[in-house]
Amino acid sequence: MQRLGTTTDVASAPRDSGVARRYKLQDEAARLLSGERVCMCCKQLAFKDPSDPAAGRFDTVQIEQNSAGRTRTANLMTCDSVWVCPVCSSKISEQRREEIKAAYELSGKFAVLATFTLRHNKQQPLVDTFNQLKTARRAMKSGRWWRTFKHEWRWCGDIRTYEITYGENGWHPHAHVLMFFDEAIDGESLEQLELILAGKWIDELQKLGADATYEHGFDLRSSHSDVAEYISKHGKMPESARGDGWSEPEEMTKSHQKIGKNESKTPWDLLVASLQGDKQSGALFVEYANATKGSSQTQWSRGLKELLNLDELIEQLRDENPGDENPDDDYEVVLEVRGNDWLDICRYKKRSDVLIAVANGDIDEAVRIVQECRVRCLDEIKNIIVGTSDNGTSDRKDSK
Ligand SMILES: [Zn+2]
Repeated sequence: MQRLGTTTDVASAPRDSGVARRYKLQDEAARLLSGERVCMCCKQLAFKDPSDPAAGRFDTVQIEQNSAGRTRTANLMTCDSVWVCPVCSSKISEQRREEIKAAYELSGKFAVLATFTLRHNKQQPLVDTFNQLKTARRAMKSGRWWRTFKHEWRWCGDIRTYEITYGENGWHPHAHVLMFFDEAIDGESLEQLELILAGKWIDELQKLGADATYEHGFDLRSSHSDVAEYISKHGKMPESARGDGWSEPEEMTKSHQKIGKNESKTPWDLLVASLQGDKQSGALFVEYANATKGSSQTQWSRGLKELLNLDELIEQLRDENPGDENPDDDYEVVLEVRGNDWLDICRYKKRSDVLIAVANGDIDEAVRIVQECRVRCLDEIKNIIVGTSDNGTSDRKDSK
């Protein structure tokens, strides 16, 4: 373990212990989903060169902090489970948000935001309604109807994201689709577009024995403020799970209680509630994990990234917004933890405590927790050895 800097230079900046909370939630997801990839995430050291495992793994976990007070870990293997891992989801969503923003603001194409959903009730398992949603979406984008639609409306691609919430009427799976067109659509044409899409959507649902109404099954938005707001929230965790500045478990309870009775809950809200001991929320999270396994959360239609020259647009977006936080900017290593020590920390679920200490600028406390875990683990090993030799003695006695 090595201290590599002080956090005094960020003492005046607001502390962000969001990463600590995400680790705590990740431990809860791992508890609920034993055997899944999320159980290994951010616990094992990563390969130095993923394309050449023979080069070996890193020796230490680096805990880094930037001038804005944000903390993160480096050199660890990740699971990339965007549906169920709070740590990976947050990281991946941040990157996707930037891509979608670049495409929307800088491509020069006209875009509308369409939302597709279906009627559901509390008795329906998520796997059923989510499958209906995905099947109806696929059906809508195939065959002659779609070929004609694309041509007539000069559609050039879309970015589809599935979202799932849970509320009074059970699971609410829905698709947000940012549709790009070569020419602007407004006034009566926009109303016509809405009617055509809604009609086709309801047709496809009915073929599957599902249903939706014009009022509640489909929504189309084209105003810049609506679309920009959607993008700014894309993949962001709710306040209850984000916990900026949060440090104590009691605070988690408080923010959880802020979710109104009639409001819908995101999967992260369910995970927070499960962490607080609510078994039903834990069971719902497991149902959600099983239903979403193997599905892509966000998908760009084939060829759209190339058509829009996405890489160039992202560079342009970064140039135009130098004030925006670049995820890779400005981080410095403040603490290095040996691989074995990190495994002990994981074993006793102390990752979030170490990160909170670092976020609070208290490196001494972080070091103390690491050492405490090391001692605890050594004690356990000693006890096992003593226990084994006791058994050995008693076995010999028995055999006499
Ligand atoms: Zn992960």
